[in-house]
Amino acid sequence: MSDLYCVFGNPIAHSKSPAIHAAFAAATGQDMHYEARLAAVDGFKPAISEFVAMGGKGANVTVPFKEEAFRLATRLSERASRAGAVNTLAFNGTEIFGDNTDGAGLVRDIVHNLGVSLAGKRILLLGAGGASRGVIAPLLAERPASLFIANRSAGKAEALAASFADMATVNAGNFAKTDDMTFDLVVNATSASLSGDALPLPNGIFAEGCVAYDMMYGQSETPFLAQAREQGVVQRADGLGMLVEQAAEAFFVWRGVRPATRQVLADLRSKLGQ
Ligand code: NDP
Repeated sequence: MSDLYCVFGNPIAHSKSPAIHAAFAAATGQDMHYEARLAAVDGFKPAISEFVAMGGKGANVTVPFKEEAFRLATRLSERASRAGAVNTLAFNGTEIFGDNTDGAGLVRDIVHNLGVSLAGKRILLLGAGGASRGVIAPLLAERPASLFIANRSAGKAEALAASFADMATVNAGNFAKTDDMTFDLVVNATSASLSGDALPLPNGIFAEGCVAYDMMYGQSETPFLAQAREQGVVQRADGLGMLVEQAAEAFFVWRGVRPATRQVLADLRSKLGQ
């Protein structure tokens, strides 16, 4: 029987993860089956127990269960501990290993796929939720010149910045605080694009040659990427590459094999009509 994996979320029906992992498995010759599983909002733990009892070997975890998965893990990777959230679980006997591959996925997409080095760059990270927390340590590991976290609620950004003070000086505040500042990379990790909202970003935050990256993805241009285009940013990317790269990293955690991602990403883009 094929090794069994899944992604848990709520909602989950539109997840692209089953197609991504099926493509990775076919390309690398791994005998595995990966499916989407809906867990009740208050039923994540029993859903995991049921899956493990079925022989499940590992799972991805998406909204709204990443923090619960963090608490459920009996062993955590360093990057999951830092993120305070888990998107990848591996089951081995009674052990539940929790990892977080989101930050590695973002960095790999930017550095490898987009060909943009982060060393010495001024980075602005928009948002102070789970996605933002998960990418801070991997971004800092690339040795940028500076990192500023801007969020609607300034206190949340400041608390987040303070929790990484042992790694580097991270500054934070509300969006208005970035007035008069310029950045080489601006990453949107807010969920504002989900509701179609534009962010109140000061004019002039995008430096010459700046890269704008929205973790959101979809068929049409996100409000954030439209703002960046209107302000003259040429290199703009959505989060589809991050999605594929975090999946590749999870695949590596489970199978010890690193799948190629270029064709999988190209196929997803063409399905989205991009
Ligand atoms: P959270 O709910 O944890 O955080 C949401 C963040 O967005 C908060 O900082 C919140 O600010 C801010 N926000 C929400 N609405 C607005 C608005 N209208 N204006 C300004 N700020 C707003 O979400 P996550 O961190 O889990 O996810 C954020 C985004 O990242 C989502 O769009 C998600 O789809 C995407 N993502 C993409 C991944 C990928 O692989 N491409 C992986 C993970 C996430 P406040 O604190 O003030 O409420």
